[in-house]
Amino acid sequence: MAITDAHFHVGDFPMSGVRLDEDGLAPYLRANDIDAAMVFHEDNAMVRRVVAGIPEAYQLYWADPKFPGAVDELREYLKDPKVRGVKLHPLFGGFLPDDPRLHPIIEVLIEHDLPALIHCGHPIFSLPWSIEELIIRYPEAKIILGHMGHGNIVYIDASIAIAGRHPNVWLETSGMPMSLKIKEAVEKVGADRVMYGSDGPWHEPKVEQLKVQLAGLSPADLDAVMNGTAQRLFLGA
Ligand SMILES: [Zn+2]
Repeated sequence: MAITDAHFHVGDFPMSGVRLDEDGLAPYLRANDIDAAMVFHEDNAMVRRVVAGIPEAYQLYWADPKFPGAVDELREYLKDPKVRGVKLHPLFGGFLPDDPRLHPIIEVLIEHDLPALIHCGHPIFSLPWSIEELIIRYPEAKIILGHMGHGNIVYIDASIAIAGRHPNVWLETSGMPMSLKIKEAVEKVGADRVMYGSDGPWHEPKVEQLKVQLAGLSPADLDAVMNGTAQRLFLGA
């Protein structure tokens, strides 16, 4: 079965004691049977250099709305066909998801029909209800709730409920520990709006894959969550 991983990091994260060397990415993807991966780091230039040499790797531009040049830089990056959307980390960045400085970035994504993957599941900046304010403001935007609430059942249930309320929302499974919530998400919003991500190298991709495989999905739904949904959303495949 082909695998597309919607959530992948490369580089050094000294605060978390996590790192994946630039030249370690390709072997790590292949060791985990990943056919396509969306890769990001705050250092966008580094990621562009790394993914250029790896056919399976694509880039999500790491957007910081506090950086005044972000919109122009994003437009520049989007000229590269390897750049398939934006990663937003309101928690690390210290901004709310509906911050007005973020709006022009979302508008560029709408123009290009590409998604934003938003870290979802930590107070105070990355709670699902705050992201919902942005979702309501921009019904044409394609918003992925990264981690679909992460490790907290209240945030997980809220993420599934928000995807149920808004057709422009997708759920991404990394770091969310409950296989049964993947099944529930597929039943409530459809496999075409749920996608596998690992958050590698924070989480082991094989463990994250097994979590989806144990969710009891039909073969067609499993294929969509592991591959088809992300292929369509990021790559138009
Ligand atoms: Zn991550």
